[in-house]
Amino acid sequence: MSAPSPTAGPAPLPERVEVVVIGAGVVGAAAARTLAERGRSVLLVERFERGHEHGSSHGATRIFRQGYDVDDYVALTSEALAGWRELEERSGRTLLELTGALDHGRPEMLRGIEAAMTRGGIASERLSPEQAAERWPGLRFEQEVLHHATGGRLSSAEAIEAFLDLAVVAGATLRFGVRVTAVEPIPATGTTAAGAVVRTELGDVTADHVVVAAGSWTPDLVGELAASVGRPLPEIVVTQVQPAHFPTAVAADAWPSFVHYPDDGSSVYGLLTPGEGVKVGLHGGAVHVHPDERDGLAEPEELARLTAYVAEWVPGVDASAPHTISCLYDLSPSEDFVIDRIDRIIVTTGFSGHGFKFGPVLGRLVTDLVDGDAPHPRFALAAHTPPA
Ligand SMILES: Cc1cc2nc3c(=O)[nH]c(=O)nc-3n(C[C@H](O)[C@H](O)[C@H](O)COP(=O)(O)OP(=O)(O)OC[C@H]3O[C@@H](n4cnc5c(N)ncnc54)[C@H](O)[C@@H]3O)c2cc1C
Repeated sequence: MSAPSPTAGPAPLPERVEVVVIGAGVVGAAAARTLAERGRSVLLVERFERGHEHGSSHGATRIFRQGYDVDDYVALTSEALAGWRELEERSGRTLLELTGALDHGRPEMLRGIEAAMTRGGIASERLSPEQAAERWPGLRFEQEVLHHATGGRLSSAEAIEAFLDLAVVAGATLRFGVRVTAVEPIPATGTTAAGAVVRTELGDVTADHVVVAAGSWTPDLVGELAASVGRPLPEIVVTQVQPAHFPTAVAADAWPSFVHYPDDGSSVYGLLTPGEGVKVGLHGGAVHVHPDERDGLAEPEELARLTAYVAEWVPGVDASAPHTISCLYDLSPSEDFVIDRIDRIIVTTGFSGHGFKFGPVLGRLVTDLVDGDAPHPRFALAAHTPPA
């Protein structure tokens, strides 16, 4: 009689790689792909399962838009547009549908966005509220509307799959269900270069570079380290946000992606998710959470605010039938991203509810940091916490 075979556990992790990427949200997935395609040996570790819903990147759709009021963001949207098209070509998937994108509401917001888009060479058009209502009957307008045709809808879950698949094609190893418990720098010695050790539940991995793409969890993983070397992260406020899908009978091609700047100073976004309804969300979120301690439930007052908004401003949906979603925002004080390096550890967080559209660019920016380039000035740690 043969001996019983030992229970097969998870395969061990490699002891050493060039780059460990922590997190398989859009940032980690895009980074793993670009790093691997630039010839790095990459191990991506993600604590949850592939496609999980615990972070910021899940769900079928995200808005792609070029409507920012700041030149460098506008330029990055143009790079991202080309990047998404290239990703479609490489992956054979359809990822970006240009449904057009609208901004409406506070006139000073529209003026700033229009001016920056014009400086960035992006065509836009102004419409009166009446013209806009005729063209997009699902929405209500009180003020002028700014439309650009190069905005639309990303198939976000598909996009992450495309990044991950191409990362594997380029040689990356992906491991799901592996939680990183610590990231520790290894200083350079006379004979060895600097690096870092990534401690996980399955053992330690030594790497030349570590990319912390852990979104709302990044401060937990590297906040203390950053502070200890005098380069603190900005305060990242994590909110549990709760947009909802609403059923609609309005034709799919009459739904652009939209952002509304109501007079109360808030902003509200929306777009059609085919097969699920029109997604509408209040930007920001009032429910502060720790990412490990959230209930995923819709907060009744927030939901009431959302449905009241929808009843007033989105006549093309049934405001009485919301299907809520729970998601995390990692808000930096300026809502600018953090993408910088602390020696060999690349730190990313603070995507503040608007990072997805930049996916291919985020992969490029992280990879440039690994290659030794300076950070993008807007996303540098120093830009968030200027010296006192
Ligand atoms: C409701 C909602 C709507 C949005 N709409 C838009 C939009 O229309 N357009 C747009 O451009 N952006 C939008 N955003 C923002 C965009 O989705 C986020 O900025 C982006 O997804 C952030 O990605 P991330 O990779 O940084 O974070 P995440 O997706 O949270 O990824 C971080 C990953 O790290 C993993 N991780 C954390 N800790 C560990 C650990 N210790 N070990 C291993 N793995 C770990 C997590 O499990 C997670 O998978 C929206 C966000 C939300 C929540």
